[in-house]
Amino acid sequence: MNNPFENALEQLQRANAITSLHPDILQILSHPNREVRASIPVRMDDGSLKIFEAYRVQYNNARGPYKGGIRFHQNTDINEVKALALWMTIKCAVVNIPLGGGKGGITIDPKKLSKTELEKLSRAWIRAFAEIIGPHKDIPAPDVNTTSEIMNWMNNEFSKITGDTSGAVITGKPINAGGSEGRGIATAQGGFYVFETVREKIALPASCNVVIQGFGNAGAHAAEIWSKAGHKIIATSDSKGAILNSAGLDITELEKYKKVSGSVIGFPGSKTISTEELFALECDVLIPAALENQITLDNASQIQAKCILELANGPTTPEADDILFARGIPVIPDVLANAGGVTVSCFEWEQNLKNEHWSETMVFEKLQKMMQTETMNVFTRAQELKTDLRRSAFIIALERIKKNITL
Ligand code: NAD
Repeated sequence: MNNPFENALEQLQRANAITSLHPDILQILSHPNREVRASIPVRMDDGSLKIFEAYRVQYNNARGPYKGGIRFHQNTDINEVKALALWMTIKCAVVNIPLGGGKGGITIDPKKLSKTELEKLSRAWIRAFAEIIGPHKDIPAPDVNTTSEIMNWMNNEFSKITGDTSGAVITGKPINAGGSEGRGIATAQGGFYVFETVREKIALPASCNVVIQGFGNAGAHAAEIWSKAGHKIIATSDSKGAILNSAGLDITELEKYKKVSGSVIGFPGSKTISTEELFALECDVLIPAALENQITLDNASQIQAKCILELANGPTTPEADDILFARGIPVIPDVLANAGGVTVSCFEWEQNLKNEHWSETMVFEKLQKMMQTETMNVFTRAQELKTDLRRSAFIIALERIKKNITL
């Protein structure tokens, strides 16, 4: 398995090979400002005590407070968190919001915990990192396996410790606890605005066949949004496997089915397929929306999609990028395609700081405008430089970050 932090550094160096940043700036951005690890004890339901490994990486704050989600996953480790934190640094600069990059996590399969244990673990994460986070220092958010309910527990724990009740320390909270309208679907919605901005430019039809890997927050909302807009979701997957229905999956029914059964597998009218088959399906758009390192040297040449839109972070390795670029398959990179999530998180933070509550219409109008503008920037720059979209997005971000670094 590729080390995701090495992939992220490779992407940084590839962009630098075109822009030639000051070598000192490249050095600074090749290291996180700070990485903090904690061992957090939790009393389990059976009375035993368990210690969990927890992380917060504060990668770079040249453009504003550190910003980035918290992942609960059994494979989460410091290299994954560092990679995600570097990507956050780039992403916030790509969409030009006044935030830096960070990320956090715990090595845990949360499905193995009871709700009480999960709440204790989430509150313990905040106690471990309370000194280094805050509305003007570092603002966490949800990521894989962390929900608005978990963000609510975390925000509540932070206000108990510090007395700060603004809610501006955590985004992705439930709406009745200071969350923003639209945050739940913002990642997928932002990705859709990116897609709509470029659909005709990359010669995709008005109604596309779409394949989505991962049916969680990002993936299931993408399925809803794309299908409501008249596109056909022909295949999707989750950690238990993948399904296909070439005539199109009924997404409303699939969501109900997954809620009851716990997986997309066995959905009536669909056929179970392997992950290899999912990635090799002929389609217009392939949306990875699960984890990193999914499109690699091993499967990049089998991909039959006309375009890849990365809602997941880091799904494509640098070697796979080269193969796809040579084959003329555009990859709309994570640092642009999934930036709708952090953009609406930024809106939530702003609302909390000003004690305001914006309507959903206002949130999506602002989001659409920002995503359209930055998508055009990334595409135009890629054409000018005759390079791929990832290098182009990184170059735009690095130029913006560089302005705020004093040597
Ligand atoms: P989630 O936990 O809600 O969903 C993850 C989904 O991926 C689940 O359906 C899970 O079953 C599936 N999955 C896990 N392993 C898989 C595998 N090997 N094969 C197929 N499916 C698998 O998480 P999410 O928030 O939707 O995050 C998904 C991706 O999107 C991550 O890379 C995350 O960093 C990225 N992302 C999320 C947000 C956000 O706001 N939630 C924002 C930006 C980027």
